[in-house]
Amino acid sequence: MQTRCPKCTTIVRSKGGVWEILNGACLDLLGTEWKNKPEFCPTLSQVVEPEVVLPGITCRASVQEGIGRADHQS
Ligand SMILES: [Zn+2]
Repeated sequence: MQTRCPKCTTIVRSKGGVWEILNGACLDLLGTEWKNKPEFCPTLSQVVEPEVVLPGITCRASVQEGIGRADHQS
């Protein structure tokens, strides 16, 4: 499976539960500590969840909090 995040340009490819980010740039994560870790994109994480678990799902609450904080600063 190869899926693109409907919201940003991050693309993930997965096979047998193993995933790999092909193209990573998540605007949501800009200004957060996950800026260079597009696998934390909360939107993409939800989209691919039936097949693979990205760290963005397991850390969802703190990622959303980080995004909220980053939004406030800008
Ligand atoms: Zn995203």
